[in-house]
Amino acid sequence: MTEDKYERMAREWLERQHGKIGGPQADREVYEFAALLREVGGEWVSVSNARFWMRVSETGSCWVWTGARNKDGYGYLRDGESTVLAHRFAWASLNGPIPDGGQILHHCDNPPCCNPEHLYVGTHADNMRDMANRGRAATGKTSRYRGVSKVGRRWRATCGRDNKHVGYFDTEEEAALAYDVAALERLGASAKVNFPLPAPPDDENGG
Ligand SMILES: [Zn+2]
Repeated sequence: MTEDKYERMAREWLERQHGKIGGPQADREVYEFAALLREVGGEWVSVSNARFWMRVSETGSCWVWTGARNKDGYGYLRDGESTVLAHRFAWASLNGPIPDGGQILHHCDNPPCCNPEHLYVGTHADNMRDMANRGRAATGKTSRYRGVSKVGRRWRATCGRDNKHVGYFDTEEEAALAYDVAALERLGASAKVNFPLPAPPDDENGG
C-alpha cells in the first residue's frame, strides 16, 4: 500500500523522534497522526508543539524535560539533522524567536526545566521579566474552544483535570487542535475534542 503525503510526513516525523518504527502499533500511530496532519493541511506547528509538551513533566513549579539530556543536564531533542535544546524551544514557544546571540537562562538553576516562566534571555533579563509580568496579567482569558486560554498575546492549550500544559500558539485554532492531539493521546478515542476526526475507513460499521 502506498502512503499518501500526510502518512509519509507522519512516519518521517515519528521516526525522527523514535528511530525506525514498524509493526501494527506503529502503523496505527502513523494513521492517526496523518489524519491530524490532513486536517490542518500538513501544517504541523501545533502538532509538534503538543508532542514536545507531552515530554515535559509538570510535577512541581519546574516543568522537567523527560527526554534525553546532554552532559550539562539540559534536555534536547533531534529535529532532522539538528539538535534543539528543550528549554530554548520552550522559551521560544511562548515568546517567539530567540534574539541573535541570546542565551536562554534559568531563574531556577534547574537545567532540564522547561517552564517558560523560569526562563529568560541573558542579554535582556529586565525586558523579559516585564514580558513575563504582562503574560501573567493577561492569563485566564477564556476561549470558545475546549482546553484553550489566552496568555499574553498567545493562546495556551492545557488538557485534562491536571491542566497538563500542551503548548503556546499564535492562534486560538492551533491551540484548539493541539488540545485535541493531547486529549486523544491521553484519554483515547472517547476524548471530547474541538475538531472531531472522521472514522477510520476499515471501521466495523463499514464506511
Ligand atoms: Zn524551573
